[in-house]
Amino acid sequence: MSKRIYLSSPTMHGEEQRYIKEAFDTNWVAPLGTNVNEFEKELASYVGVGHAAALSAGTAALHLAMKLAGVTDGDVVFCSDLTFAATVNPVSYEKGVQVFLDSEEESWNMDPRALEKAFEKYPNPKAVVLVNLYGTPAKLDAIKDICSAHQVPLIEDAAESLGAVYHGKQTGTFGTFGVFSFNGNKIITTSGGGMLVSDDAAAIEKARFWATQSRDPARHYQHSEIGYNYRMSNIVAGIGRGQLKALDLHIQKKKAIYETYQKEFASIPEIRMNPYLPGSAPNFWLSCMTIDPASKVTPLDVMVALEQENIESRPIWKPMHMQPVFATHDFIQVADGVPVSERIFERGVCLPSDVKNTEEDMERIIGIVKGLFA
Ligand SMILES: *Cc1c(COP(=O)(O)O)cnc(C)c1O
Repeated sequence: MSKRIYLSSPTMHGEEQRYIKEAFDTNWVAPLGTNVNEFEKELASYVGVGHAAALSAGTAALHLAMKLAGVTDGDVVFCSDLTFAATVNPVSYEKGVQVFLDSEEESWNMDPRALEKAFEKYPNPKAVVLVNLYGTPAKLDAIKDICSAHQVPLIEDAAESLGAVYHGKQTGTFGTFGVFSFNGNKIITTSGGGMLVSDDAAAIEKARFWATQSRDPARHYQHSEIGYNYRMSNIVAGIGRGQLKALDLHIQKKKAIYETYQKEFASIPEIRMNPYLPGSAPNFWLSCMTIDPASKVTPLDVMVALEQENIESRPIWKPMHMQPVFATHDFIQVADGVPVSERIFERGVCLPSDVKNTEEDMERIIGIVKGLFA
């Protein structure tokens, strides 16, 4: 069997171990410590935001963002429809109600026109949660303007888009709150972890308080609020500090992968790579393609053919409005007919986008795909 080619696996560089060793040498294995403080500062400085709280997962960061936005019993929250469930599950943790908004075709992200329409139907949502899917920035200016006009906080799920830029500004910094993930398959990883960012110092301080069991400032163990065990450990943060130094390199490699696919598949009219907006620079976390429904080749054909050669690929995230758990939730699309998110889901495939992909790996993948269309 040929060497396995992964969708997106961890890529370590050695620097990570230096920070871990430092933590061991000073016995700051846990809790918190220098690596946590420095990782927060370094990430905040990289993306250009005032404050950051290092947490155990991106999902934990999204949960605390919901709490900071004040989401509670029965509150409506507008959510991206085409995303991973972790973007929207935290709404339920706080007993809010998700209303899903369809995508546009140009970046696959939340359609600002669907957002306008949603405000007509539900004038008082508690928050808007938007994802930059697969590392591609959404129409962030338009969406931010609509949220500001309605004075509703925007929560930007940048779990997949660390390092991506829209109109010169880093994703994760457009919203009132931004969220990053360092899960194993993300563009940089700490094995598991997340970060909540904001320019609101008090909000980030509050998040740290909730994340460490809501301990009141008293010598005895006193609690006036429900708390969580959501903090990142000092070891994990050490991996993050090392990985952050490699982020630009990872983006460069992923961009090269995307451009190789784009160039090689340009000769097959039924294939289209995932699009991005003018004025945006994705981090190219995952290269995806859609196949024209008139083609004899289906996305499943591609996934099966790749798997037979020990190459990992994945379907596009299944839209939230199609999920059994959200069957009773409202879904807003701009025009009648098959929703944009559903069409992308049905025609799409995520292609291997591993930083470690070699030229030969790319040739193998591309050869198999091209063979199907021949
Ligand atoms: C990975 C991911 C998350 C969750 O992050 P974790 O660190 O795994 O909790 C949230 N949203 C999106 C879009 C993701 O891809």
